[in-house]
Amino acid sequence: MDMLKKNQEVTLRIDDLGNNGEGIGHMDGYALFVKGALPGEIIRAKIMRCKKNYGFAKMTEILQSVDAGRVEPRCPVAGKCGGCTLQHLAYEKQLAYKQKKVMECLVRLGGVDEETVEWLPIYGMDEPWHYRNKAQFPIRMQKDEWGENCPVSGFYVERTHNIIPVTDCVIQHPCMKEILELVLSWMQEQHVPAYDEENHSGLVRHIYIRHAHYTGQIMVCLVLNSRELHPEQRKALVAKLTQIHGVASIFLNINPKQTNVILGEEMELLWGEEYIEDRIGDIHYHISPQSFYQVNPMQTEKLYQTVLEFAGLSGGETVWDLYCGIGTISLFLAGGAKKVYGVEIVPEAIQNARKNACLNGIGNVEFACGPAEEIVPKMAEKIRSTGNLMAEEENRGVARTGLADVVVVDPPRKGCDGALLDTIGEMAPDKIVYVSCDPATLARDVKVLGAKGYRVNKVRAVDMFGQGGHVESVCLLHRTDS
Ligand code: SAH
Repeated sequence: MDMLKKNQEVTLRIDDLGNNGEGIGHMDGYALFVKGALPGEIIRAKIMRCKKNYGFAKMTEILQSVDAGRVEPRCPVAGKCGGCTLQHLAYEKQLAYKQKKVMECLVRLGGVDEETVEWLPIYGMDEPWHYRNKAQFPIRMQKDEWGENCPVSGFYVERTHNIIPVTDCVIQHPCMKEILELVLSWMQEQHVPAYDEENHSGLVRHIYIRHAHYTGQIMVCLVLNSRELHPEQRKALVAKLTQIHGVASIFLNINPKQTNVILGEEMELLWGEEYIEDRIGDIHYHISPQSFYQVNPMQTEKLYQTVLEFAGLSGGETVWDLYCGIGTISLFLAGGAKKVYGVEIVPEAIQNARKNACLNGIGNVEFACGPAEEIVPKMAEKIRSTGNLMAEEENRGVARTGLADVVVVDPPRKGCDGALLDTIGEMAPDKIVYVSCDPATLARDVKVLGAKGYRVNKVRAVDMFGQGGHVESVCLLHRTDS
């Protein structure tokens, strides 16, 4: 559509939401993305940028609204910080959108037959605020209202490296605010400078905080640009932080690189334990700073219950938990299975996983560290030839039929590696339980698995990211010839 020009005003009916919460309207099939607009609204918008097949416009007025579910955001920087892209949409509408998104992706991109799938209703949150157990705030020096240079924490303005000062985030656990304010006051009192990205100078780059929902334990990690923190400054930091109830672990992380990656390679335990402990259901977990851990504790339990239900274990199954993190799903399923193999790429997470198995007295799990696409084929081969991964295992040499009865995958947003999907196809489990944080890559992988004889049977979305646009879902696939 080449009639549209920059700065032109148009009237547009919004009919969909994009991945970043932006409204999408169509003019003769040409898609226009409008930040802040909602489906159900007819708006006036000014064209900002036109590409061949789509463009961007800025909303100037809402002309009409039919059941759009617009609400006043709770947070003063909603829509600016790049985090909560859906805070202006009523929570029930957010849930409906996420459920629809999963179905649309699977049907349109995954080639799934809508009629043959059981679409279970999304599990929403009871209280979609203050739920996050993990915060990573950048720290910079900025001038305050009197022109003084002060350390501030906050969020990057979308697509920039400017910071909007915030300590009070409406989706974070309240302990985050207390810790942030305390660390900022410590920086001022002790004259510890924040990192300066332009000159690659200064010291404190980020504060990274984790809170364990059930035990109340807190881990604080200060990411520094160099090791130059004086003993007095360290002592003062520990003295302050340990006044906060629950603080159990204080780390320094050294990241001297000019990079957007938050954590550097070097970790130094400043005080307390090297992990914090949390619980999901009846299982206890140790969590290291480098390990992945789901950010929404209440919903994680519902997510794992869904995995357990979809796996439908009866006690005799061999289960694989690929992309297993600290072994949360593996241990959640172990009680119902004969054997569980967990595979994960981060060494610290695998150390946690092994320890977590001991901590809970679970003996029928084995964990391996490496890229799943590389090590699962080798593990499968070894099990085929020896009967188990451990050569000294007593059932050595016994031909086992069940190499894999159920395979669970829970990959990052980019989805499963193609080589891994090939291996899973060869392992031929009866069921695959796919836990996904991006329905588009889920749909892509479901299509690949479809060509290997797997059909989607049930789908349930679980809202892990209230106020945000990310969509989590669990998908059960059955082997059609089984
Ligand atoms: N199931 C876990 C973790 C899911 S997050 C839980 O619920 O907590 C995805 C995990 O995949 C992360 O721990 C990440 O480190 C890991 N990962 C990423 N790429 C991988 C790969 N190629 N092979 C194995 N694990 C990988």
